[in-house]
This record gives sequence, structure tokens and C-alpha cells, in this order.
Amino acid sequence: MPEATNYYKQLEADVNAAFPPEEAALVKRAYDFAYEAHRGQLRRSGEDYIIHPVAVAKILLQFGMDYQSVIASLLHDVVEDTPVTAGEVRRIFGADVAQLVDGVTKLGKVPLASREEQQAENLRKLLLAMSEDIRVIIIKLADRLHNMRTLKFVPEQKRRDTARETIEIYAPIAHRLGIRPVKEELEDLAISYLDPVAYGEIERALEEQGSQRKEFLDQIKQKIGERIRTFVPDAVIEGRIKSVHGIYRKMYMQGKSFEEIYDIYAVRIIVDTVGDCYNCLGVIHDMYKPIQGRFKDYISTPKPNMYQSLHTTLLGKEGIPFEVQIRTHEMHKTAEYGIAAHWKYKLGVKDKESNRRIEKGIGWVRQLLEVQSESGEVADILNTIKNDFVSDEVFVFTPKGDVICLPLGATVIDFAYSIHSAVGNKMVGAKVDKRIVPLDYKVKNGEIVEVLTSSQPGKGPSRDWLKIVTTNEARTKIRTWFKKERREENIVEGRQEYERELRRNNMNPTEEQAQQLVTILSEKQKQPTVDDFYAALGYGGIILSKIMPMIREEYNKIVSAAQKSAPKLKKAKTVSGEGVVVEGIDNCLVKLSRCCNPIPGDDIIGFITRGHGISVHKRDCTNVPRDIASSPEPERWMRVYWNTSEKQEFYASLLLTCIAGDKLMNDIFTTLNSIHVAITGINTRATKDGRLLVNVTLRADSVEHLRSIMTKLSKTAGVTSVERSGADI
Ligand code: MN
Repeated sequence: MPEATNYYKQLEADVNAAFPPEEAALVKRAYDFAYEAHRGQLRRSGEDYIIHPVAVAKILLQFGMDYQSVIASLLHDVVEDTPVTAGEVRRIFGADVAQLVDGVTKLGKVPLASREEQQAENLRKLLLAMSEDIRVIIIKLADRLHNMRTLKFVPEQKRRDTARETIEIYAPIAHRLGIRPVKEELEDLAISYLDPVAYGEIERALEEQGSQRKEFLDQIKQKIGERIRTFVPDAVIEGRIKSVHGIYRKMYMQGKSFEEIYDIYAVRIIVDTVGDCYNCLGVIHDMYKPIQGRFKDYISTPKPNMYQSLHTTLLGKEGIPFEVQIRTHEMHKTAEYGIAAHWKYKLGVKDKESNRRIEKGIGWVRQLLEVQSESGEVADILNTIKNDFVSDEVFVFTPKGDVICLPLGATVIDFAYSIHSAVGNKMVGAKVDKRIVPLDYKVKNGEIVEVLTSSQPGKGPSRDWLKIVTTNEARTKIRTWFKKERREENIVEGRQEYERELRRNNMNPTEEQAQQLVTILSEKQKQPTVDDFYAALGYGGIILSKIMPMIREEYNKIVSAAQKSAPKLKKAKTVSGEGVVVEGIDNCLVKLSRCCNPIPGDDIIGFITRGHGISVHKRDCTNVPRDIASSPEPERWMRVYWNTSEKQEFYASLLLTCIAGDKLMNDIFTTLNSIHVAITGINTRATKDGRLLVNVTLRADSVEHLRSIMTKLSKTAGVTSVERSGADI
């Protein structure tokens, strides 16, 4: 493969310098594998796809990552974008590499999910993988960095979406991990795509004042260097320009003018020991006038991303402010590489202290996953990163001296919830620097915050707190409390809302269908029970209007299935009313027709009436056509049977023709009494020829029973004939 090796040349020297030969050989093998897998695929720029994984690998080599990370970066898109399977990667490159590749591979399309939901699910997967192996996120950040560098080839809409996702999610993650150069480059690139006009203006402003400011900065560097080196001979002095995004935020979000931004230029002093850091600070404050309230000691209280440094802002000769950062070499590595410094400086993943620091550095990942699993909503991960991981932070202390980092503007309630949900939920007040403050008090840098709690049962947060808190974490935890503690109310409210909404949308399921529908919906919404589904509607965890199209779809499925199920059951024989089995229809309404009063044993047939179920006639009833096939509506006649397994009583009408006589009625009653027949009706009519017609309606339990009744009656004195009559005379 002569052409395949071309791109590898970009890595070869770095790989061979960084890894022993056997590891380097594996990296080369991964490259060849990726090259083959992506062969023929092009990037939007028109270049071979392999350019991208190679560029990502290059970034990881610059970070000083280990060979497994570099291999995984070469393979990071093969499972997602080529026919190569995760199993193949595992077989050839081992479980560790396969796990890394899987961590950066997106989930397959989640059906029915919105773009936001997909994004949140993918992010959750990434965070889970990252909590297992932190290298996953470093590969992902490098991947994103190269995609952002080449984003100009992507169509407008996708470009904006990717840039937004980068600035809202990936840059904050890079910030939390302390990988400053990546965070800044991601932000600057994102701004250049999202707000190209402002980006251009800032670049121009930096350029215009550039030479002038550079001169100013060089002078200061020189002066500081002269003084410092008399105390610390090998101190390193650097100058640095703030990132475009940092300036952008101050200008457009805090409304400052370019001139008002102090730390566009910063001087950095790097020394060997912590003691030297404080010595340098003293020297600098002696040389220039420090600006009040701008001194920050991140050495004694490191940022949660492990950043350590002394910051101070000073006034230069012409009244131009500038920032000075003082730190040790060790701190500087952490400031530049964050969590990745553990690989870069061969601290080794197996090193205990290193592990402890990595653990500490990703504690927030676990916390984030916990908040999400408590609330049950994946979107909370997105919202927490977007809202709570901003660069404008305040650092406050617990009474025990632990540092808590909160976004600027956070209140004492946010503080309480960042300690623990239980602390927030029991909160009744707060003290800042030992003084009681109101609950909407916004904490400031360096303050000691104490949460006052009550153990009184029934105590909980107030709904008003939702309007006070600024962190997503606190908001989620408060909502979760209401969700759990107000469950009964939520169920009732949710159920009412749900039923109201069904009616409004003209969905009128039968009771059985309604049960079926709500069970399906609960499953689809991943609610363990129907009550949980109602409760989620009640507290707003599930938004009814959002799932309405899905409800409509499921409802239609159930209703059409019910209609289809009728012919499907054609062969099944089930008993309907009146002891009649109707072929193919389950539990339908059955009426024995009054024209012929069929009773068990009679040959019968059913007729589908309009709206009154099936009327059952004797086969020889005058209302039944002789030849059904050629009758007007043959499809409405259907076969029915008596259910012989079931004893049931029937009504029959008998017409007795009698010779009138004084004792006639008495004899008839005596006969019927003797065989225990219940008479439900009787009437008589005299004919012109002197005979008496007696119509008796009685209960019989079968045709045999009726026949025996008829025989007895016909033997009764005065009765000349007995026959079944259709109806009353
Ligand atoms: Mn990629």
C-alpha cells in the first residue's frame, strides 16, 4: 500500500519518539487498519477520510497520551462509519482499545427522539464511558477539535449546530478537565462560526493595539524579569494574550469595552517552589500598584479542575492594567494539560497519587450522572453542563474549609444543593461569614457559607426556590423532591390532565382499550408503573403535548386492532347471552327474538341487527328467508348454536285450543302445577265457533322439557290441541 503510508508519515516520527518499538508497531497496524476501513470515504473538504483520524492522533501525541489512546483515536470512526464491528476492533487491538472506541461511538438513532434527546443520550453514554476510562473524553475532545478546525467545509446549518454544541458542551467539559488550550481553541473557533462579525472586530482590535501593547508588555516583562531573577535566578517569564472568546464574553456579555478588559495581556511567572511564588508576589506588589479585589490565591485553594496559580492585577506606568499569574512548573503543566498532564508527564495511570487526582478531577462526572439518575431525565445532563459549567465561577468555603465552586450569581440555596440534596431539602436558612443572610443571597469569592437545616419532619423546599436558584443542579434536585414527596397529588393531577387531553383530542377508548393504551404509554416513557406515568405527567417530567403524536399513534393501533380482531376470531366459539353460541363473535349482545321465541334444542339462526346485537330466530321462523344466499342481506345472517353445556331457562308460548267449560282453567293449572312449571303469563280468547284459545307463556329449560309439558297439557280434559305459538295472541 504505497499510498497508505503517505499519511502515516505525519505521525511516524512522533510515534517512534514516544513509544517503544512494539507499541509503535501496533500504532502503525491501527493506522493501516483504519486506512483500509475508510478507503474511498472522503471528508467534506474532498480529502481522504483518513486525514481526520490521523489529525486526531496527532493531537493526542501532542498531549503525550499513551499508545492505546493513539490507537483508539486512529480507529475512533471505524465502528460508526464503516462496516468494521466493535468485535473486530476488540479481537485485533484488545479490550481497552475497544472500550475507548466504543466510548466515542455515538448511539444508533433513537426512534421518536428529538435532536436534543439524541444529543443528551449520546452525551450520557460518553460520560458513562468517561467515568470508566477518562481517556475517552480526551480522545473525544481531540476529535471535536479537529472537526472544529475543519468546520468551514460543513453546510451552514450543521456548522452552526456543531459550533453551538461545542461552546455549550465540549468547551465547558475541557474547562472542567483543566485542558486550557483546548478549551480556548474550541471557544474561539465556535465564536468565529457563530458570530463572525464580532470575532473579526476583536481580532482587528487585538491587531491594531497589538504592536503598541506588545511593546508595553515586553517592557514590563523585562523589568519584572530583572527584579525577580535577583531572588529566583531561573524564573521563567512569559507574556500571553487572552483568548478571543474570553474578550468576547467580557465585551458582549458583561458589556465592557475593549479598553476596560484588564487581562487581555498577562505576564506569567513560573518558578520552582510554592515559597518562590509568594516571594514573587511580594516583589511584584512592591513594583506596581495592585488593583483592589483582583488578587486570587488559587494555590491555597485550587479550582475544582486542579488549576493552581496566584493571580493579581496591577497598574502599569501609563495607567494600563495588566494581570500577573505566578505558579510553579508543576502547576503550569496542570494548567496547560489538566487531566491529560498525568499522561504527558509520565505520572503514570497506575501511580496512586495520580489516580487520586484523576478521581478528583472527574468527580463531577459521577455527580452529574447521579443528578440525572435521580431526576430520571437525560436532558438534565445537557442543562447542567450548559448552565453550571461556565467559566465565570465563584469559590466559596464550607465551615470545614472545603472549596465549593459555583457559577457566578449562585445563591446560598445553590450552595446547599451542591453539598447534597439532603442538605438543600432540609435548609431553613444560611449564614455567610457567620452572619445570617436571606435565601436569595448571592455568594461571593472566598466567603464561608454555612447552611442552617431543620430536622423537623415534613420540612422541604419551597416552590419559590425554583425562581431563586441559578444552578441547574439545584433546580433539578428541587424538582426531584417535589416529584417524590408529592407523588399522590402528582398522580391525581397527571391522570386528570391525561384524560382531559384524550377527550379534547376526540379519543374515546373503551375501558379495556384505555387500560391497554396507558400501559403501553407507560412502557414507552420508561415508567415502571401506570401510576409513575401519571405522576410524571403531574410534576411535569413528561410533557403531555410533546407525546401527543405518540399517544395518537398508539390509540389508533389499539382501536384498529380491536376492529380487526373480530374476523380473526371467526373460528372461536364463545358463549354470548341467552345460552347461545355465536360463531366468530365474542360476548356480543344476543336476544332471542320475540317473533318465534326459540328455546334450546330448536334449530336456530342469528341476524345481525343494527345496534342491538344479534337476534336469534328459529330456523323456520317466518321472518327468516328460506334461501338465505339469495336474500337481500345474506351477510347479516350467521350461524348460532345453543350452548349445550349450560343449563338455562327459556320462555315459551303455547297455544291451547280448548272446549270451553267450567273446570277448564282449573284443570290446566293443576296439570302445570303437577309438573312444576312456572307460568309467567296467560290470556284467553273465545272464538266465534265456541272454542276457547288459551295462550300460556311459561318457563322451560329445554325443548325436551317443553315437549313433556305439551304432552301433559294435551291429555288434559277440554284441551283439543297444543302447539307452540310465536307470540302472545
Ligand atoms: Mn471523528
